[in-house]
Amino acid sequence: MKNKRILITAGPTQEAIDPVRYLSNYSSGKQGYAIAKACIEMGAEEVVLISGPTQLEAPQGVQFMRVKTAEEMLAACEMALPVDIAIFTAAVCDWRPKHTSTEKLKKQDGQDELTIEFVKNPDILQHISIHANRPHYVIGFAAETEYHVAHAAYKLKHKQCDAMVLNDVSVGSGTFGGENTHLQLLLKGQDHAHDLGEGTKEELATKLLVYLSETIFCK
Ligand code: C5P
Repeated sequence: MKNKRILITAGPTQEAIDPVRYLSNYSSGKQGYAIAKACIEMGAEEVVLISGPTQLEAPQGVQFMRVKTAEEMLAACEMALPVDIAIFTAAVCDWRPKHTSTEKLKKQDGQDELTIEFVKNPDILQHISIHANRPHYVIGFAAETEYHVAHAAYKLKHKQCDAMVLNDVSVGSGTFGGENTHLQLLLKGQDHAHDLGEGTKEELATKLLVYLSETIFCK
């Protein structure tokens, strides 16, 4: 990781419905923060960590940027370019409300349903993968509940990145928000996943970076 400038996204995004409500998800940001810390420990020259709202403290030595929405996260990523490596662990909301109410939405008498229209958020990973200033290596994270390898393989191709890290977030896995994880890695051009095993998110962060350093970053 020496001499490398690395961009990492982490945590969820929050998409406002009104001044007091938002759409988000259970992502804790732990995996992305652990990867940022491991990059520093492995001697990276600069680590830019762009994080959605989390309860975590930024690891020492990173350039830290806090954002809320997917659009803010994308703008922050573009500002961070050029980088050598980009690792997208953030659980970006796929959708945001079409309109954000400036006033708190009120229940009307007799109202039993509320319909909110959503529009698609930008896909940050895909956007950066085809950017004029594309990083040398772009790595995505696929959090899947079923057909894990098939879904991750599709995302690797569709989003045009170099590697896709696969983690199981099905009910009972405890991955989303938890301390432990089980990661597998799919590299571009390969048809099988490499199993990195189970452990804490910190242990797996180091295992992942060591494996990537030995297989693709060294090329
Ligand atoms: O949500 P999805 O499974 O498609 O996420 C796969 C990868 O794409 C992750 O690395 C995630 O950070 C990234 N992503 C993104 N912008 C989105 C949706 C996902 O960068 N809007």
